[in-house]
Amino acid sequence: MKYYSTNRQVPPVSLRTAVIKGLAADNGLFMPMSVQPLGEGFFEGIQHFSFQEIAFAVALRFFGDDIDRQHLHQIVNETLSFDCPVVPVKDNIWSLELFHGPTLAFKDVGARFMARMLRYFLKDNKSVVNVLVATSGDTGSAVANGFLGVEGINVFVLYPRGKVSEIQEKQFTTLGQNITAIEVDGTFDDCQRLVKSAFLDHDLNKKFLLTSANSINVARFLPQSFYYFNAYARLKERGEMKDKELVFAVPSGNFGNLTAGLFAMEMGLPVSRFLAANNENDVVYEYLQTGEYHPRPSVETLANAMDVGTPSNFARILDLFGDSHVKISSVMKGFRYSDDEITEMIKKVFRDTGYLLDPHGACGYAALEEYLDENQTGIFLETAHPAKFTDTMERIIGPGNVPMPDTLAKYLKGKREVVGLSSDFWEFRQWLVNELNNS
Ligand SMILES: *Cc1c(COP(=O)(O)O)cnc(C)c1O
Repeated sequence: MKYYSTNRQVPPVSLRTAVIKGLAADNGLFMPMSVQPLGEGFFEGIQHFSFQEIAFAVALRFFGDDIDRQHLHQIVNETLSFDCPVVPVKDNIWSLELFHGPTLAFKDVGARFMARMLRYFLKDNKSVVNVLVATSGDTGSAVANGFLGVEGINVFVLYPRGKVSEIQEKQFTTLGQNITAIEVDGTFDDCQRLVKSAFLDHDLNKKFLLTSANSINVARFLPQSFYYFNAYARLKERGEMKDKELVFAVPSGNFGNLTAGLFAMEMGLPVSRFLAANNENDVVYEYLQTGEYHPRPSVETLANAMDVGTPSNFARILDLFGDSHVKISSVMKGFRYSDDEITEMIKKVFRDTGYLLDPHGACGYAALEEYLDENQTGIFLETAHPAKFTDTMERIIGPGNVPMPDTLAKYLKGKREVVGLSSDFWEFRQWLVNELNNS
């Protein structure tokens, strides 16, 4: 299948090119030329299939023309070496726990899939591939861990100084090998700008093979649709979907996760609404309310992986629905929560149910509480393990209440190694050229 650019100024490209380039040459985002629905029969019997089987069926629709079955099967199974269970929290509200992977956040799914797909496409390539990734917290660790030790690939993680938690930082600054962490004196949007500028720099791209691992990459964002299908299957299996409408609440920053859900719906998944749960970075909320879209600088919140002022995947949402505000707002409804509201929600749910929400999942949960009626079943995406934000969590619910998984404890013991840079593109470019010439 070919992939076209949302800006439509360049011809469609192959999957291989879309994955290696990340961003289209006209600065647009790649979209699959067509979305092939899974038949009614598939959904009727979906509860009889495992997560891996469902994911493979979905993957075949997107990638089956471009990767042979056997390799695709292997990529799917290696990616999903952990489960994404749906657990009951309260009444008709369920948590889709996406934090059982190696870095305890949903980005493990996309990052692991992309690392394997990139390796597949570059298996005969002699030159080194350089992955540049901007992170507001969890992308960096998921991508770095997804690519760690993969031969022929260097990863450069750019992150805003002082704006990610210690645990998040440790997960990509202590790895060594083919992973380099760059601490930028600026915001996440600055980091994203540096990465985008590098991709658009003609000379740089002539000399070196650069690619993106941000959620703009089709190999990262499309696989995120797998767990939406599986969540539906698991609830159906438990008899929870009888005569009920399905609502997903998605804690959103760059909107890659939510966009993957929209693709799942386009493929036939019976979803009645997507709730776009934002923190105070609310440009999409505002768009859904008013039809006006005004990107602006991000502000810092407790749910820092959602501190995005210019959500990159919004272009995909517009494209998917032909720029129609009417259509988009009939599929998505926006919610936004202040730090105080997030704090109260975490406290309340912990007190009433014993379930520990992280600050991002708390936004999703809150949206379901506001929106659901008794004819609906709601699933919120619990996008990270609460222990990734221990300081914040302990301030909210008191010390000793946040269990630390072994995988996280291990990172905390590692030695931090970073390169410090300003947010100036030319400084970054110079550093990168030196680094790549010497490697
Ligand atoms: C990245 C991230 C988000 C936002 O996801 P998008 O796909 O960028 O909307 C939400 N929660 C957590 C924990 C994240 O790491």
